[in-house]
This record gives sequence, C-alpha cells and structure tokens, in this order.
Amino acid sequence: MAALAKDLSTASKVKVARLRAWELRRFTAEEGRPRIVHLLIEVHTVEEANKLIDRGAIVDYSVYPCERFEGAARATICYKCGTWGHKAAFCKEKEARCLICGCGAHTQDETARELEAQCPARRDPAINKPRCLNCGGAHPAFDAGCRVAKEQRQRARERFLDRPLAFQAPL
Ligand SMILES: [Zn+2]
Ligand SMILES: [Zn+2]
Ligand SMILES: [Zn+2]
Repeated sequence: MAALAKDLSTASKVKVARLRAWELRRFTAEEGRPRIVHLLIEVHTVEEANKLIDRGAIVDYSVYPCERFEGAARATICYKCGTWGHKAAFCKEKEARCLICGCGAHTQDETARELEAQCPARRDPAINKPRCLNCGGAHPAFDAGCRVAKEQRQRARERFLDRPLAFQAPL
C-alpha cells in the first residue's frame, strides 16, 4: 500500500494523505478475471482532489477514473470542539471541549470515547446536566434530537443528492 501511495503521488502529482482499498467483487482465480479494487484516496487540498477527479489517478502507467467520495457528504461532528462540519484533525480551536457537558475537556486523552467517559454529566446526570455546544440545550452536542444536529443531517442529505462532480474550492 505504501508503494502504491508513493506511485500515485509521483505519477498523479498529488500528495496522498491516506489510502484505503476494498474489493468490490471477488472473483476466483479460475474465472481468470481481474479483481476489482476500489481505492479511497485522501489528499491534502481541494486542488489535488480536483486534479484527480479531472485527470484520473495514474497507477502503473494506466489512468483510472476518480470521483468524489460520497462519504464526505455525511454530517461530521468535531470531537475536539463539538461543532459540525469538520473533523477533529482539521479543528482550528485550541482548547478541546467535552461534547457532553460543554465544559473544557476533562482529559487530554485524544480519543472521543475516553473524553466522554471522564465527563461528570455522564457519571451523574442528575447533578451535572449535559449542555449542547451548538444549541445550549440539555443534551450532548451529538444528540440526534438536537435542532442543529437535525439541520446538519438534512444539509448532508441535500449535499449528497445534489453533489457536484468535483469539489468546490473554498472562497
Ligand atoms: Zn472542531
Ligand atoms: Zn463533560
Ligand atoms: Zn443541541
């Protein structure tokens, strides 16, 4: 996989951030047909993503068509600041927040599960009420009943139905 990522980076002139693969269908060797493998290529910039969509990915001197990954249209909540629309890896906030009670993070542990486990609102909700970072309501930021969460999921659905073929560069 590392060799493939390097090959992709050189031939397609993009910096590959992460590469994942899965087989769409499995054929036995007797059928003599090549296996179909889908690649999920993550790059660092919109420009690089568009380059792949426009020109395809070059692997072993062959060009393979690329399209926008539909999973990107799913509503994403940040496990660092608790707001919607980006992942924690891309968060611009300095201080991590607790997604349950909205206070500063109770631990420096990076994993979301560990952050939540340390929350007093989780241990004793009768005394420590949860507080939503997005609407201020008495529920965790990721609560499915949250007005903001519902809006975000609705928007994600619309984006999915109306998705452009290429990424739009941020203005
Ligand atoms: Zn964030
Ligand atoms: Zn908390
Ligand atoms: Zn809320």
